[in-house]
Amino acid sequence: MGCVTGKNPLGLMVLVSSLLLSGLSLASELPSAEAIRSALKQAHERYQGLDDGANADYIPALAKVDSDIFGIVLVTVDGKVYSVGDVKSEVSIQSISKVFTMALVTEEKGVDALPKNVGVDATGQVFNSIHAIEQHKGHEMNPLVNAGAITTTSMVEGKGYNDIWNRILRYYSDFAGRELTVLEDIYHSEAETNQRNQAIAHLMYAYGHIEGDPLQATDIYTRQCSVGVNARDLGIMASTLANAGVNPVTGKALVDPENMPEILAVMATAGLYDDAGKWLYRTGLPAKSGVGGGIVAVSPGKFGIAAISPPLDEVGNSVRAQKAIADISAALGGNPYQVMPYKK
Ligand code: GLN
Repeated sequence: MGCVTGKNPLGLMVLVSSLLLSGLSLASELPSAEAIRSALKQAHERYQGLDDGANADYIPALAKVDSDIFGIVLVTVDGKVYSVGDVKSEVSIQSISKVFTMALVTEEKGVDALPKNVGVDATGQVFNSIHAIEQHKGHEMNPLVNAGAITTTSMVEGKGYNDIWNRILRYYSDFAGRELTVLEDIYHSEAETNQRNQAIAHLMYAYGHIEGDPLQATDIYTRQCSVGVNARDLGIMASTLANAGVNPVTGKALVDPENMPEILAVMATAGLYDDAGKWLYRTGLPAKSGVGGGIVAVSPGKFGIAAISPPLDEVGNSVRAQKAIADISAALGGNPYQVMPYKK
């Protein structure tokens, strides 16, 4: 092909067309630093004053979290971190953790294990529905609702409580690129009030989905939901999902790229509770929210984006985080379904 440099436009065209002819695609184009900074700033300014929604309070300690925390972080797949607002305050990761335990079990047991034991379908019911378990005897659910998530946690390999827990915390920390810890006040508050999740775990045990002690699975699940994360942690975790399972900041490979489409598919169909369809319609982004106020969203091959703001809408999704992420992704062309017609 000869020497191809940026100064040689003809050579570059030859390179591009031969790559396309060979069936290889070029890396998708990343938005410019300027465009990212401006989109983040605008979204933060636009929604900072919005005070709709309320902190979750069914876990008593969540009601006490500062409702004004508002931070947004976007991390591109080449490892550049962009942020605005409060990126240091930690909230509990809550249901966002379900994605990473799903990834861990998928890595340990392969992509067929979770569909077989839990299902990969949206339930159309609230995230802690008991009715959804009864309907199909604990099948036809997914790892992102409580029954599926507690079951997924019960499937993590390890010799006893500590071994399993350390494996989970190690994995989450590798996603964030720093050592994460449990917010003990949140953990104790939920552990004292999680009788519904205990009931869910017992039902999943009764239907044969959980092997071993259902209360141990519930407790490890409660602990995983209480891990403290700031917006920067969540942004890096999201970008690892966007970058085929490799943390773009630390370079550590955490998910086999072959397993990523399945994980993103469940996030797309069930990541934002009963509003997952509305969210996907508006943004096209696989995402996951938590009742601590965080949301992570993934533009595959481009960037991960996260926002934290504790007040939730009636479904349980952060009001400001949803709006900010939707606007930023739209401004940066993040929707993976948004393509232009092929030019012959
Ligand atoms: N730990 C919470 C629960 O089980 C997580 C719920 C959530 O974030 N949707 O209720």
